[in-house]
Parts: sequence; structure tokens; C-alpha cells
Amino acid sequence: MEVHPAPIGALHQGKLMTSFVTTTCPNCGEIDVPLSEVVLRVNDDDGSGACVLRCTDCGARFSKIADDSMMILLVAAGIEVQTWVKPAEVDERPTHLAPITHAELVAFAAMLDDPAALSGWMSAER
Ligand SMILES: [Zn+2]
Repeated sequence: MEVHPAPIGALHQGKLMTSFVTTTCPNCGEIDVPLSEVVLRVNDDDGSGACVLRCTDCGARFSKIADDSMMILLVAAGIEVQTWVKPAEVDERPTHLAPITHAELVAFAAMLDDPAALSGWMSAER
């Protein structure tokens, strides 16, 4: 990802120049995205950052990791910044449980079509 900040008040062919980033859309390949379509999300816990972008051609939303120098450039260019913290619930999950398997997901999806089975499963002792 490459940042192209526009000089303040600079005109190009009579129009006010806008800042943009050059990046790669998963559908369209290399694209230029105006900063109005980019949000920098900074994790307050560790200071890491990622850009959330919307492709102006196909509308796809995707994210790109932003290192420290990229974040400084983006903030200087006037990008919208949002901060977030990891929800406490993430650390409250039991660690002794095995990850959910694909077979369990398929069985659960089938159960959603059978209210009696779903009700029985939800009332069972776990
Ligand atoms: Zn696209």
C-alpha cells in the first residue's frame, strides 16, 4: 500500500487534489482509493494498525496491515482514525475446549431446521 498525500489546497485541472492510497483490491487488482474511503483502525492494547478500505470500482471491503511509518503518513494525510481494544470476553473463553469442527457446524445448521431437536439440545445438561 502506498500513500499519496495531496498538497493542501493544490489544484489539478481546476479541481482540488485529494489524497489517496494505491493498493490491491482482491477483485480488481491495483487501484487508487481516496482517503475518504479508508479508515485506520488502531489497537489501543498494542498500537498495531490496519487500514479498512472500500474499493471504489467493485465496492469490496478489505483490510491491509499498516506499520508505524504507514500510520504516521496516513494520519498526516488526514485519514479517519478509529481505536479499538480486544473485548474482555476473548480472554474469558475456556481454553480446555477443542475448537469447533466443520462436522459440528454442519450438525448445528441441520438442527436449526428441526426446532424440537434444537430445543432438546439447548435444554440438555452440558
Ligand atoms: Zn475492487
